[in-house]
Amino acid sequence: MKNQERWHAALQNNYGVPPITLVKGKGAEVWDDNGKRYLDFLGGIATNVLGHAHPGIVKAVTQQIEKLGHVSNLYSHKPGIELAEKLQDLTNDPTARVFFCNSGAEANEAAIKISRLTGRKQIVATVGGFHGRTAGALSITGQDAKRTPFEPLLPGVKFVEFGNVAAMRRVISKNTAMVIIETIQGENGVVVPEAGYLRKVRAICDQNGVLLAIDAVQTGMGRTGEWFGYESEGIKPDIITLAKGLGGGLPLGAMITLGEKAPAFKPGEHGSTFGGNPVSCAAANAAIDFIVKKNLLKQVSTSGKFLKTKLAKVPGVIDVRGRGLLLGIVLEANVAAAVVAKAMSNGLLINAPSKNVIRIAPPLIVNKKELSEFVKLFSRTLNEVLNG
Ligand SMILES: *Cc1c(COP(=O)(O)O)cnc(C)c1O
Repeated sequence: MKNQERWHAALQNNYGVPPITLVKGKGAEVWDDNGKRYLDFLGGIATNVLGHAHPGIVKAVTQQIEKLGHVSNLYSHKPGIELAEKLQDLTNDPTARVFFCNSGAEANEAAIKISRLTGRKQIVATVGGFHGRTAGALSITGQDAKRTPFEPLLPGVKFVEFGNVAAMRRVISKNTAMVIIETIQGENGVVVPEAGYLRKVRAICDQNGVLLAIDAVQTGMGRTGEWFGYESEGIKPDIITLAKGLGGGLPLGAMITLGEKAPAFKPGEHGSTFGGNPVSCAAANAAIDFIVKKNLLKQVSTSGKFLKTKLAKVPGVIDVRGRGLLLGIVLEANVAAAVVAKAMSNGLLINAPSKNVIRIAPPLIVNKKELSEFVKLFSRTLNEVLNG
């Protein structure tokens, strides 16, 4: 039986049946079970910050699992402590306190529970925002198609237009516990708010004693050329949630509280059996060390600017949104799905968060040659789709 038939016969159909089966990868390249090579510009959906099979990650994971694979959180272990300290350093805040979990949805679940500890019961989130698929995370996700079949969800969530300061001011009150927001709406098609938006939201939150949670699940871990994606706005959130790239390709999430305003969990109030397991933490430590050592944040910004400049000139492209290596290529026609399919047959992996937007999130280590190859492959693909 072919892999597609086997998948169909044994798995839930929530992803549809994937058209290809991947067997190995190296850096920004992957190969399928027919030996066909692809340039991977989706990077496991913004997870593989150092690409596939990075020697530093492989070594860290191998050494860790040979020594100690999993212990639960009834015992401490060095990779977990080390990673929490690193995250504390990266937030530049010694009051930062980390809770580890396995995914972005779980990180946001933890943030929702922290917000409840303020005594206030209302949460403000944004239209088009995405925070995960579990019941709590879905309750703060502003995308009707994903929510409607699963209602009723958590009560007390209000949605405001992303980027609209006046709307935010109107909806926030003394009953609001937390505002949760992405710095760039990744799943919604890489939507970037105007400069100053986060700063103004921060001020409104401060005026009303409201926690500001930044969901950096997709924009964190250096993806935008900054560690968390809010630094250029000169703000500090009360809560940061991380996952995707955090584990360097392994499953790992984190919810971090900063400063004194966010309540802290007391013993027994939250937990996760696998959360922050030694192997994932070892991978995350190796990824952070490599990003720092190679000054990758600077390279990410340079790579992003190169792509933006080149892609803006491609016929059929009307805008290139985003920062660093999280970019949304806006097409003049609603052909994004056809572009993704054609790109795949041309040996390029990308995805389409909406009808006219292509999202790319290649590994942070992507080199100049691969960037140029991408521009060539993408231009050819778009031309084939638009002009037959
Ligand atoms: C992907 C994503 C999530 C959900 O992460 P999972 O690991 O799939 O649960 C949450 N928030 C944002 C911004 C994301 O991009």
